[in-house]
Amino acid sequence: MKYYLRTYGCQMNVADSDEMGRHLQARGLTPTEDPEEASVLLVNTCTVRQHAEDRAFSEIGRLKKWKARQPGRKVVITGCAAERTKEYLENRFPHVDLVVGAKSIEDFGRIVDGLLDRRSTDEDLEYAIPTSDDKVSAFVTIMRGCNYSCTYCIVPYVRGRESYHPIEQVLAEVRDRVSEGAREITLLGQTVNSYHRDGSKGRDTDFADLLQEASAVDGVERVRFISPHPYYMTDRVIDAMATTPQVCESLHLPVQSGSNPILKKMLRNYTREHYLALLEKLRAAMPGIAISTDVIVGFPGESDADFRETLALIREARFDWGFIFKYSTREGTPAAAWESFPQERIEERHQECLALLDCLAFDKRQALVGTDHDVLIESGNFGRTRTNYKVQVEGDAASGDTVKVRITDAQRVTLSGHVHGSRQTSGYMDGHVIRN
Ligand code: SAM
Ligand code: SF4
Repeated sequence: MKYYLRTYGCQMNVADSDEMGRHLQARGLTPTEDPEEASVLLVNTCTVRQHAEDRAFSEIGRLKKWKARQPGRKVVITGCAAERTKEYLENRFPHVDLVVGAKSIEDFGRIVDGLLDRRSTDEDLEYAIPTSDDKVSAFVTIMRGCNYSCTYCIVPYVRGRESYHPIEQVLAEVRDRVSEGAREITLLGQTVNSYHRDGSKGRDTDFADLLQEASAVDGVERVRFISPHPYYMTDRVIDAMATTPQVCESLHLPVQSGSNPILKKMLRNYTREHYLALLEKLRAAMPGIAISTDVIVGFPGESDADFRETLALIREARFDWGFIFKYSTREGTPAAAWESFPQERIEERHQECLALLDCLAFDKRQALVGTDHDVLIESGNFGRTRTNYKVQVEGDAASGDTVKVRITDAQRVTLSGHVHGSRQTSGYMDGHVIRN
């Protein structure tokens, strides 16, 4: 029996999808890229912005025909929109067999067992041997939920309060992903660097400890993490990043706005000055670090002066890239009660901000032409630098290899380059990295 998984939203959702996929594989299902081959179709939804939710709902509507084409097929809806609108989904789409909200993902295995009871599934559908995941770059969730109350954000409502996985569990997952072929591990959480858990060090194990311990797992070449919150970007974390060779020199650090009054209204507990000082600290500790961000434009009450402050911060911060989001009203959040902008104004600001960031980011990419980077090949001829730039690589390189690449060209989104110097192939033998 095959399953098809469609994921909307952030890396947390991608990691949740991977985890649900592993549960399904443990029960004998195999993944497929073709929905027509699938007997179980999962839609992992996002509700952070209205647009993502709307897209998922129209896909769910279309699945009625998919299901009708073959009796016994199952439709499963999971994730943040499923948490927020469970009853609505069940009533509006009777062809949906199971709704699993984001707060219940850790129980997915148990919940899905009932659905996959063979008696209630088409007897003709064929079971297959589980396959293993062979991703070079894998996600490991270290915490769930969020204790913040950013006034625009639905996440704390649909994912609940913070809970942290025990360090032993995190390290076991890192080892599992490495044994399946991963070379790069991305630690995940909504405020990933707030991680703490009772440890063996006479104090809590914190995120800095975790970075070091995950990096020390045999076979781990690269460690990244997402999404850190500026508040928890402590000296200890910066020091651990700078002194642990496996931790990559790249950081996605959402700023949301460059205006202090707006940051205050968003309840972001830092100022533009704090944020910029933090970037200086990071750059002093890791001179080559690439920094990216999230910005929201059109937050209720954002004046023209506030918006100009955001543009000025983008220039000052010298971001390598970023995501500019149009503010989206989320029912139930404090900001939803505040007067919002006409959509055209939000659109205009979005375009202006995007144009600025694109232009700065393109300059940065062009400045990389002629420089050499270690690129970890992820699939085909595509890989990433330690600074998380995507590179199309020409030359002798296979998935899982780390190769020295000279950058020859910069496009709007990616870089191009060719293998330059000797090839390093990573392989694993009895748990040790070998290079040839
Ligand atoms: N926890 C992370 C943090 O605090 O930076 C971010 C997680 S959130 C799922 C990802 C991004 O979505 C945020 O950084 C923010 O820019 C954006 N976002 C969240 N709520 C939004 C809203 N109501 N409208 C537009 N963008 C939003
Ligand atoms: Fe949302 Fe703020 Fe929590 Fe990030 S820190 S998930 S933006 S409430």
